[in-house]
Amino acid sequence: MQIKNQEGFCFVSFDALAQSGMVKHCFTTRQGGVSEGIYATMNLSFTRGEERAKVMENYRILCQKMGFSLEDIVVARQSHTDRVQTIGRQDGGKGILREVDFPDCDAMITDVPGIVLSAFGADCVVILLLDPKKKAIAAVHSGWRGTVMQIVKKTVQKMTEVYQTDPKDLIAAISPSIGKCCFQVDLPVAEKFRQAFLFADEIVFDDEGQAGKYKIDLWETNRRILLQAGVLPENIELAALCTKCRTDLFYSHRAMGEERGGQAGFICLCE
Ligand SMILES: [Zn+2]
Repeated sequence: MQIKNQEGFCFVSFDALAQSGMVKHCFTTRQGGVSEGIYATMNLSFTRGEERAKVMENYRILCQKMGFSLEDIVVARQSHTDRVQTIGRQDGGKGILREVDFPDCDAMITDVPGIVLSAFGADCVVILLLDPKKKAIAAVHSGWRGTVMQIVKKTVQKMTEVYQTDPKDLIAAISPSIGKCCFQVDLPVAEKFRQAFLFADEIVFDDEGQAGKYKIDLWETNRRILLQAGVLPENIELAALCTKCRTDLFYSHRAMGEERGGQAGFICLCE
């Protein structure tokens, strides 16, 4: 993983995805946009209350720096589901230039070159997937609810169903998101992880600083889910950057509450 800086526009780039030569991708940071105040500076979310013109300008900057077309980006309505939506050419621009006319979903897959899939996360884990053999991609929003529902495994299964993806071919990138250093939860959430995962002892910990509180490792949980889905360990890249620790670079829901902008992962197959 590298943090790249293109004249002030900073983004996270994953080595294996970049080296494939088959995709354009990034996970955006707060830096390089025109937003001000609580949204400073690269807010890409239309739903956080900032004036639309500023967000649109940030998208224009994103497109210029990354070589995306605005008409090709797809921004879904994420709502902590485990729905995976198959995206076609006709979906380009939805969520930015046009209304989204497909149901809420938290993962998107496509094999259409040029189409830019997105997944937002301000502490939630975002996972980008590339199948270099079948030439298909995915963008996944895996918050703690999505993680418990194993949305990334469902995304891999959907890619197999629709594109005949062999999981062993997949390249996976796990975005900056809240680390086990900061993801503190109460017992009910800890219990959900314990019930969902046989390896719970490796991802749920007592918070040594606070009785009755727990800490969860969402990065390792999603890595283990990917392994169980058949992805090879050497093909999984972890950014290992905590959004709550690094509010200089990222928006963090835990650190900022509702007063913040939104960042996202973007991926598209080269044409
Ligand atoms: Zn942290």
